[in-house]
Amino acid sequence: MLYNDPTYLLIIPAFLLAIYAQWKVSSTFAKYSQVACSRGYTGAQVARYILDDYRLQSIAVEQTPGNLTDHYDPRAGKLRLSDNVYGSNSVAAIGVAAHEAGHAIQEAKGYAPIKLRNGMVPVTNLGTTLAFPLFLLGMFAGMPMFMDVGIILFSLAVAFSVVTLPVEFNASSRALRVLADGRFLNEKELPMAKAVLSAAALTYVASTAMAILNLVRLLMLRSQRD
Ligand SMILES: [Zn+2]
Repeated sequence: MLYNDPTYLLIIPAFLLAIYAQWKVSSTFAKYSQVACSRGYTGAQVARYILDDYRLQSIAVEQTPGNLTDHYDPRAGKLRLSDNVYGSNSVAAIGVAAHEAGHAIQEAKGYAPIKLRNGMVPVTNLGTTLAFPLFLLGMFAGMPMFMDVGIILFSLAVAFSVVTLPVEFNASSRALRVLADGRFLNEKELPMAKAVLSAAALTYVASTAMAILNLVRLLMLRSQRD
């Protein structure tokens, strides 16, 4: 990706893992999108019930376009569910809806990693935008200082990716704990929801691995300069 350098070999395992994780999450979601939950609730209803249980009536549940674009927006105080989750009563939809509600609960409970993660968003955006251009500028112009700044900025993106992991795993475990009470899913359906959430978690693991290995690459290219 950078140019003709052998360090790109380093990221191939993470790249393959990322492709596998993407395939796994799409196929697992598609599979359990075909299974209607016996209780008949939609993703939107489940999210609403869970939020209300935690006295989070102020958080709106909205529909958002796209596939697997579900997210909780802490600034807007909105939980956005994608077309295939919002109005769907599939087991996959219930799992995703409960996971997103898990993020809202994290914030309400003051769960430290999500506070850290949200606080890192602006600086991470800046870091990911500028890291590679500065690094390349430093490399081609023979100014190692710019390479160092690029590495520091890219480290912020790596840190963000690492902090995202506990946030995502915790949201899923909260979701599964809520769903385990049997109100929305029966005991046959619960493992299906769990499979969807585990596949989703793997995509975060893959992107963190990718980020870490890219950082190692930059450090290797930097040390070649000395
Ligand atoms: Zn999440």
